[in-house]
Amino acid sequence: MQGSNKIREYIYGPVPSRRLGFSLGVDLVPYKVCTYDCIYCQLGKTTKKTIQRKEYIESREVLLQIKKAISTQQKIDYITFSGSGEPTLNTNIGSLIREIKKITDIPVAIITNGSLLYKESIRKALLPADLVVPSLDAARESTFKIINRPHSSISFDRVVKGLLDFREEFKGRIWVEIMLVKDVNDSRKEIERFKSIIAETTYDKIQLNTVVRPPSDKSAFPLSIEELRNIKDLIDENCEIISEFVRKRQEVSSEKKEKRILELIKRRPVTLSEISASLGINRNEVIKYLDFFTKNGIIKNLNFKGKTYYESK
Ligand code: SF4
Repeated sequence: MQGSNKIREYIYGPVPSRRLGFSLGVDLVPYKVCTYDCIYCQLGKTTKKTIQRKEYIESREVLLQIKKAISTQQKIDYITFSGSGEPTLNTNIGSLIREIKKITDIPVAIITNGSLLYKESIRKALLPADLVVPSLDAARESTFKIINRPHSSISFDRVVKGLLDFREEFKGRIWVEIMLVKDVNDSRKEIERFKSIIAETTYDKIQLNTVVRPPSDKSAFPLSIEELRNIKDLIDENCEIISEFVRKRQEVSSEKKEKRILELIKRRPVTLSEISASLGINRNEVIKYLDFFTKNGIIKNLNFKGKTYYESK
């Protein structure tokens, strides 16, 4: 079988990110193992919805790849656990953070949907991280089910309680991300509820995002920048908008990858999964390039039979 004995790449980048500068991405679960199946997910539909925690990937190899990336002296502002699903499903997340801390001063960030923070073992595992960015996309159970489509054993109350407990215990920074989807979680009532949940404790930042990349479910639409600004004013003084509307042009980090992706797109319309699989580049990294090309008018996307294809303009 082609590529069967190839060592899997668990890291990608560093990719430029507005929030985290140059971020070295670490993928702790295979595509797409997650506790949720969010309607706005940019990675596509969840193929394995689970709360089962496992090693999933070979931690020793992950660590070797991180060490190698650090030794190249590239600019890395954060080592970021995010990737192809929910990183806290990996049982070795805590030991990996601790091992990274032994070899470098580069801060470690965890991008998580926060669904498992109700488990004490996970909260403990994340304590040595510097920054945790959990999601909170709903302010009540019914909206939670519509937007996040969680695993049946995860309730909204557990998620909120997990977040509160984590804030009590974690000494690092917490930036809560709220993904707003038109007519799903943006009503005045929902925003008021978000506000009271947030007011129960102090988070370092509340970040508002909206659907700017092709979503998993075609019924997920973005809010306008004016709508986001109104919500920002209603929520909290620590609140900021992080959607791509306010992003500056960013340079992509590797000309070679940029060229290979463009060559592929020029040949025929391709999906994100096809680009990632045929070039062996992590989906999250491919997304960064596609954003850059789209914003600069080099490519466009089109929807065909429920899938998003990218083609040259
Ligand atoms: S957006 Fe994140 S939490 Fe939601 S389905 Fe995708 S990977 Fe999972």
